[in-house]
Amino acid sequence: MKSRISLVAANWKMNGSRAANAAWLEAFGALRERPTCEVVLCAPAVYLAELAAAAAAQRIAIGAQDVSERAPGAFTGDVAAAMVADVGCSWVIVGHSERRQLHGESDDVVAAKASAAVAAGLRPIVCVGEALSEREAGTTLAIVQRQLDAVIARIGVEGLARGALAYEPVWAIGTGRTATPQQAQEVHAALRARVAEHSAVAQELRILYGGSVKPANAAELFGQRDIDGGLIGGASLIAKDFAAICAAARG
Ligand code: PEP
Repeated sequence: MKSRISLVAANWKMNGSRAANAAWLEAFGALRERPTCEVVLCAPAVYLAELAAAAAAQRIAIGAQDVSERAPGAFTGDVAAAMVADVGCSWVIVGHSERRQLHGESDDVVAAKASAAVAAGLRPIVCVGEALSEREAGTTLAIVQRQLDAVIARIGVEGLARGALAYEPVWAIGTGRTATPQQAQEVHAALRARVAEHSAVAQELRILYGGSVKPANAAELFGQRDIDGGLIGGASLIAKDFAAICAAARG
């Protein structure tokens, strides 16, 4: 039996508008069944302040989807971790595969972002995951462990445990192709074992699964011994579906 309280985080990606966000919150708040798990909503940066104020009443924490690894200064277009914290966020996603792939973020940059987040008092959701070719080549565990090691080297396992780790196979993100519960559990167990090489804090670390989680497959995934909730992309845009996924996670 797991003692960790589940965490379910929405990743809206580059979606939303002030009107759509307000409608989402209203719909989520109107649902009769309240989630017993911890809920985080990661929204585009421009909406964070407004959402942080509006979501507090629903006990939904707000997170950013990315953060600069640098301190405030002459970095046009970037957002510092301290700014994210200043507008009421408590969480931030770092190392999402879309950032790694489309913005060329290396393991070192991801680790530096995790470090900046922790220094600003934010809780990082650190994403790791293999590409399809890497899975097919049998290198999944080597890839995710390398990504994890880079972050541990920078913030330690205690820094990591302040937030959460998310296993997101790249081939499952936004594709409708989900890892089987057994595939996901195998990687989660290996990640926890890797963290346990450093500290017993591994048993408290929440490891989320992300990649085409839907109301129909959430319960089986979240029922696995080392899966402590999820990072939800597409399905989080519909409040009813996101609530159903939250309901599948234990409080
Ligand atoms: C994600 O963006 O982190 C994600 C898991 O997306 P999706 O649920 O749409 O696969």
